[in-house]
Amino acid sequence: MLYMEYLKEVEGKTVHDYLEVKMGKMTKPIGVEGPVIVGAGPSGLAAAACLKQKGIPSLILERDDCLASMWQLKTYDRLCLHLPKQFCQLPLMPFPQNFPSYPTKQQFLAYLKAYADHFDIKPALSKTVISANFDHRCGYWRVKTQGVKKEETEYVCQWLIVATGENAEEVVPQIEGMSEFEGPILHTSSYKSGSMFCGKNVLVVGCGNSGMEVCLDLCNHHARPSLVVRDTVHILPQQMFGKSTFGLSLSLLNWFPMRLVDKFLLLMSHLILGDTAQFGLNRPKIGPLELKNLCGKTPVLDFGTLAHIKSGKIKVCRGIKQLAQHKAEFVDGKIEDFDVIILATGYKSNVPTWLKGSDMFCEKDGLPRKPFPNGWRGENGLYAVGFTKRGLLGASFDAKRIAGDIEHCWKAAN
Ligand SMILES: Cc1cc2nc3c(=O)[nH]c(=O)nc-3n(C[C@H](O)[C@H](O)[C@H](O)COP(=O)(O)OP(=O)(O)OC[C@H]3O[C@@H](n4cnc5c(N)ncnc54)[C@H](O)[C@@H]3O)c2cc1C
Repeated sequence: MLYMEYLKEVEGKTVHDYLEVKMGKMTKPIGVEGPVIVGAGPSGLAAAACLKQKGIPSLILERDDCLASMWQLKTYDRLCLHLPKQFCQLPLMPFPQNFPSYPTKQQFLAYLKAYADHFDIKPALSKTVISANFDHRCGYWRVKTQGVKKEETEYVCQWLIVATGENAEEVVPQIEGMSEFEGPILHTSSYKSGSMFCGKNVLVVGCGNSGMEVCLDLCNHHARPSLVVRDTVHILPQQMFGKSTFGLSLSLLNWFPMRLVDKFLLLMSHLILGDTAQFGLNRPKIGPLELKNLCGKTPVLDFGTLAHIKSGKIKVCRGIKQLAQHKAEFVDGKIEDFDVIILATGYKSNVPTWLKGSDMFCEKDGLPRKPFPNGWRGENGLYAVGFTKRGLLGASFDAKRIAGDIEHCWKAAN
């Protein structure tokens, strides 16, 4: 069916729905020339820029009222990029030369803003995508959004690019006695700085990169953090031989098998950081790169937290058994007093909640563990940017490939 005919038919249906549901807030559907991109984070911007460079227009739908909302609204003040800038820049526009190797959050945000301006990308803001269905009958995607006043809009498009990120929603664990704890409990997404916790006993739950860095920040602001470490964890130095551990690993992987590179990383980590197990941070049996490859678990980079763990400024605790008014009891029987709890328990994707009728996402515990057959491309014009657990570097690869793929159809049709 032709696109215009299809739009008319959809419109007719929507008017019908509108009359049936008197309180309905749906307006008439909007036909989008080119792909709809869901999410105006780095991945969505990269996809829009790569498309633009090929002369293909697109529309970004973003739930928040700003670009890169995860970076703007949900990160702490001291955050710098964890990986060197050459592994974090988006396609077609490098970071300014005067940026440091590890740009600050503010510098990264300024870069993203300049990136959007340069490619004249203007996302439709405050539009939360609540559903996306592929209409098999006619071969188009129908994408429904909700605005701040709950008004709904439907977009119709041939291609749908999912760029909502692996960190779209906070993971908040249920801990026994949580409702009885009388101090504040917050997720790292609301943590800005340790300055407000000066002199407090703070329990940080989870020892990924965020948990470790929040502990360091708390120490720097004279709070007394304790870190809950339930699982095994690989901690690697941020740099080795003056090079980033990440960059060095990538170079070595060009020449040596992963297991050998893992052995090298573990040997170097032992020499630089010492035996982390001594401080309650046991390493997994599988090496850091192999583990990342198998289940996506990112090794933790040490930015200085380990020195405070060694000195005893940060206590390491086993899993929490239960919480009480001002206390936490741990699985090893210890009981300690706390004023605040910070959950560094990570994030999850929200794609399974709105992407309908697609078997692209193999759900396990509600999480898209295996996003797409080839990581970036699904069926019926569905694509994903930034879902391969390879950070901004992976998102750049995805964006370039997607634009190349869509270009073939675009050229054939135009
Ligand atoms: C503290 C921290 C530090 C990090 N440091 C690095 C680093 O140094 N290097 C690196 O490569 N990676 C890093 N990462 C990973 C980083 O999150 C990603 O690399 C990057 O932000 C991914 O971009 P994205 O656009 O895929 O996702 P996001 O940045 O999460 O952007 C997704 C966008 O989609 C929007 N959205 C979500 N759901 C909907 C919906 N239903 N409708 C409309 N819009 C929606 C969100 O509001 C958001 O704006 C870090 C992550 C964290 C948490």
